[in-house]
Amino acid sequence: MTERFDVVVVGGGPGGSATATFVAKSGHRVLLLEKETFPRYQIGESLLPATVQGTCHLLGVGDDLRRAGFTVKRGGYFRWGTNPEPWVLDFNTVPGLEGLAAPAFQVERMKFDQILLDNARRCGAEVRERCSVTGVLTGDGRVTGVRYLDGGRERQALARFVVDASGNTGQLFRAVGGARIYSDFFRNIALFGYFTGGKRLPEPYSGNILTEAFPSGWFWYIPLSPELTSVGAVVTREMVAKVRGDREQALRALIDESTLVRDYLADATRVTDGVYGQIRTRKDYSYCGTRFWRPGMVLVGDAACFVDPVLSSGVHLATYSALMAARSINSILDGTVDEPRAFDEFESRYRREYGNFYEFLVSFYDRHVDESSYFWKAKKLTNYPDSELEAFTTLVGGLSSGESALIGAMPGEELWQPPEIELGTIAGRYPDWDTDRHIRFDPRHPLFESKQWVPGGVPDQGPRPGGLIPSEDGLRWAVPEPARTG
Ligand code: FAD
Repeated sequence: MTERFDVVVVGGGPGGSATATFVAKSGHRVLLLEKETFPRYQIGESLLPATVQGTCHLLGVGDDLRRAGFTVKRGGYFRWGTNPEPWVLDFNTVPGLEGLAAPAFQVERMKFDQILLDNARRCGAEVRERCSVTGVLTGDGRVTGVRYLDGGRERQALARFVVDASGNTGQLFRAVGGARIYSDFFRNIALFGYFTGGKRLPEPYSGNILTEAFPSGWFWYIPLSPELTSVGAVVTREMVAKVRGDREQALRALIDESTLVRDYLADATRVTDGVYGQIRTRKDYSYCGTRFWRPGMVLVGDAACFVDPVLSSGVHLATYSALMAARSINSILDGTVDEPRAFDEFESRYRREYGNFYEFLVSFYDRHVDESSYFWKAKKLTNYPDSELEAFTTLVGGLSSGESALIGAMPGEELWQPPEIELGTIAGRYPDWDTDRHIRFDPRHPLFESKQWVPGGVPDQGPRPGGLIPSEDGLRWAVPEPARTG
């Protein structure tokens, strides 16, 4: 039997659950297919204010998050750059986040993803676990549904739209066409495990992520609970020998190269059983697709793109893209905006957000400068109207798109519209950058030239000329009123 839905979402991670919720909330029939049984393990534990205050607020899970008792994250604590002293990133300095008790959280993804998936169910999406999508159905130049395995039985579901939110390992993204381009600059490898009894930063920063650069790369140190800490080393390809062989010894040796993390783990014990008992590795996770949609299908979250985790942007990009995709789908299903216009808006905003993180991260990886240089680059990149420090905090909080839906205010408004800046190559925009050292372009697919990535090209900041704006409820696109003259 073939079933029919308005939308089939593939994958129940944050990208898939959020898309399903935003579309189901608008009254459309949604089927979400997830191949695992939740709760399931996933990395990506440090969240940004844009996710916690913005998309989660709009999803309606704010109370669930507070009840879950996640560690409150007020920002970051960096030993990074030429400054020998650690420096603090404080989200409370961002307008709209001042005085918040919990600007963001550190989460065990098994619990966080379960909350979002349960919420999708509660909001009307039909969620089926242990259902693995094997391919898409097509007809008349469109994607028209999916084939999937349900307990070994092959089934089909037809839909007006298929959303691929199957993450980093899914293969479905190929169905939109184009290519997945792996970043030549961020060819890093992560090695990570869990510890109990690690030290905590002094208050009020005990819940902050600690990020420490060390000779072979950098470490994250994320307090998930008073007892449990997630610890990961990210090393460059050139250092691959250091993560080969026995993982326990490799992680130990890397910890011994560090200063702060070694000290914070001095009395800690590695967890060796249960879901946190393994030492895991991940590689080849920084990439971007050349296409994000085709008629009837759209890519969300890691299925579309991801870049190095040093600024914890993954779940933000997944949930932000979910909101943009859901707005597009809701508007098309309602008949208010046509498909190319709606998905071009989705794609341009998503690429801009991804591009901001990517471009900023390239400069952040230059450790021969101090933090004031990073702050300056954040301001240059985003055209943020106020101080350089605020520009940096806003960008790494996931708030540089200027959309007020991301800080829980009125969803219809955009907070600021920085002046448009000329598109160009990164070298053209930042003449002081040594592009040979920082970036090796794949000449066929220059990673930064948004012009070549988005049909027609997009301005870097603010709404596109002739582009769409968020609707009053934040769940659709609206066509802006023509500007009044005279
Ligand atoms: P996922 O969370 O991967 O969810 C995809 C889901 O799809 C999975 O549940 C999977 O089972 C399911 N699926 C796959 N194939 C199929 C199929 N064929 N049929 C049905 N279901 C399918 N992000 C942060 O925000 N903060 C961090 O601190 C952070 N740290 C990271 C550290 C490392 C080393 C790495 C590699 C990433 C990190 N990330 C971090 C990124 C984060 O893990 C991802 O960006 C995020 O999980 C993406 O969410 P998603 O919904 O797109 O995909």
